[in-house]
Amino acid sequence: VEYESRPRANFTHDFEQAGDAHDIFAASLVWNVAEHLKLARDELQTAGLIGLGHPTKTGWMAANHRARMSLQHFRTALDLAEDSHLEDSVHALMDKAGAWVRRTFGCVLVVKNACVEINCPVKLGHTRIGISAGIRVKKRHCQLCGLDPSECPHMPGVGYWVPGGSEELGWCRICGGDDCTHLATFEYRVPLMTVVTEAEIDEISIVAKPAMKVTRITGFTQPVDEIEEVLGRQMPDGTVLSCNSCLLPCEGLIRPELD
Ligand SMILES: [Zn+2]
Ligand SMILES: [Zn+2]
Ligand SMILES: [Zn+2]
Ligand SMILES: [Zn+2]
Repeated sequence: VEYESRPRANFTHDFEQAGDAHDIFAASLVWNVAEHLKLARDELQTAGLIGLGHPTKTGWMAANHRARMSLQHFRTALDLAEDSHLEDSVHALMDKAGAWVRRTFGCVLVVKNACVEINCPVKLGHTRIGISAGIRVKKRHCQLCGLDPSECPHMPGVGYWVPGGSEELGWCRICGGDDCTHLATFEYRVPLMTVVTEAEIDEISIVAKPAMKVTRITGFTQPVDEIEEVLGRQMPDGTVLSCNSCLLPCEGLIRPELD
């Protein structure tokens, strides 16, 4: 994420307030979505599905792999864009790319141990569920000042002008890293960020809107008898099926009621 920045004017530790942080969150959302769409496009290009000149001579296996990676990025972009003004356009792009990939490489399912593993990113992406971890936080700190967020002066939802660099705290106040390009001679407009350093996981559940937008299901296995019933024929191990969810016209996102 790229933050607004300016040469450092304030050398105290009372970081100057920089208004409501709402627009910072909105900008990072757009930034993150764009980043994944860019990665998706690069993969499609490497797979030879878009772009002129087909710059790399990739074998079929490798190209298929890149194309599927691209669909993963589209899916992540959709996860991030969920409920935002970008959702519909990202969804449409994912469907379009899914159909291209399906027509070029296929989307194969193999029956194994009387089950079918479903891992088509386009199919999975259409069912809007995710994973949520109920955690008990044991230790956390404010990324801007290092204190416990309950004791520090920084407030959620407010922006601050904060210098970069990791020299003072051991981590960079802007990105949390210790080897980055943020400068101590510049201030960046950032929101309060809380870093959890110790936590216990109480339970994991499937929810409609995971707190972390990208914690999603990467695949599931479906017993083959369920499919046999629908298709009305036996499917022994080794049977090869084609996923059509990524090929057929979209019937919309599925939003199970879970929460
Ligand atoms: Zn703080
Ligand atoms: Zn940094
Ligand atoms: Zn598929
Ligand atoms: Zn769709």
